[in-house]
This record gives sequence, structure tokens and C-alpha cells, in this order.
Amino acid sequence: MEEDTRSNAPAPAGAIASGRIAPGELAFDIDGVVANTMRLFLDIVRDRYGINHIRLEDITCYNLEDCLDIDPEVITDGIRMLLQGDYPHVLQPMDGCRRVLERLGREVPRLLFVTARPNRDVITRWLHDLLSLPEQAIEVVATGSFEAKIDVLREARVGHFVEDRLETCFLLADAGIAPIVYRQPWNRRPHPFTEVGGWDDIEALLRFSPGS
Ligand SMILES: [Mg+2]
Repeated sequence: MEEDTRSNAPAPAGAIASGRIAPGELAFDIDGVVANTMRLFLDIVRDRYGINHIRLEDITCYNLEDCLDIDPEVITDGIRMLLQGDYPHVLQPMDGCRRVLERLGREVPRLLFVTARPNRDVITRWLHDLLSLPEQAIEVVATGSFEAKIDVLREARVGHFVEDRLETCFLLADAGIAPIVYRQPWNRRPHPFTEVGGWDDIEALLRFSPGS
């Protein structure tokens, strides 16, 4: 008889089992996790600068200058436009995020989003338009820096954070906050953390009330 070794296999370091995170113990990055911001960036530089040879999969690092063969000034301008909301395109949500966030939003008094953007206005408006939840159920903190996310999460007593920038995941882990890596082409390096491939995976980690 063949032994089933899977159930006895140790969980990978840092792995969080299904259904283990209480809804109030999880907060979210926005760009690259809720919003398909890199797609928007490519749309902007395609239409403004005629750059159409770059695919999402080509963005293999978080600092675009380091992995894209585009004039750095074009990158700076594209990022400026997307941060200011200065574009005719639609910023698309990641697949499934609306359903899971709205379900979560019915379980907790408010959802916490922490972004390293310098300004919260554009992305907060976008989240309010995206989610059918009361305005006070959505809290957005814009820190202006990756490091400052730690203080915000500590103060909110949130122990888990979904993030797509691997360097930030390591910072969070050092501070005792469990990062959950949202898989993207720009975070494909070895790491010891729990990783999700999309919002169904995030949903599976959460412990919802029965029948919710
Ligand atoms: Mg991000």
C-alpha cells in the first residue's frame, strides 16, 4: 500500500493554512493586488508614446527602469499620470477581488488598504466606485513609503498583509507582520512566505462566519 505522504509533509516555512486568518486580521496593498496598475501603466505609455512591444510578463522587477527597455523619462511620466489619475483609460480590478472584498466587508466594520502612494485621493475614489460597500467601510492609508506600512499595520493591529512587492514583504516579516505574496511577474524570486495566485486563494485563507 502506498503511503500518502502529503498529509504528513511539513508546511513550507511561513505557509498559512486555509481558513486560518480572521477577517479583521488582514489588510491589503492596492496596486498590483486589488488594482491592475501595471496594465494601466502599459496602456498609458502605449497610447501616449506609441510603446506597444512590452507585455505584462516583461515587467520582471518592481523598479521599471531596471527591467524595461524604455526611456526613464517615459516611465516617470507614465507613473506620474497614473498616480494623478490623469488618463482616459480604465484602471481594471484584479479578477475576483470585488466579490471577495465585498464578502469581507460584510464581516468587518471596515476594510483596511495601505498603499505606498504619496496621495490617497485617486485610488480611494476608485475603490469606492469599485466596491458596493458603505464609504466608512473602506479605509485607505497612503504612506508615501514602503517602510511606513509597518507602523500603520501595527497601529491597526493587523497581523497579515497582502502585498506584491517582495522587498516590502521581507520588511513586514522582519517587523512581525505575516506577508502574503500576491503572485506577479515582478516578484518571481524565492521567498519563504505564503503566496497567492489570485483572490480565490485569498478567500481560502480567510475564516468567514458560517453561512456568510
Ligand atoms: Mg503593490
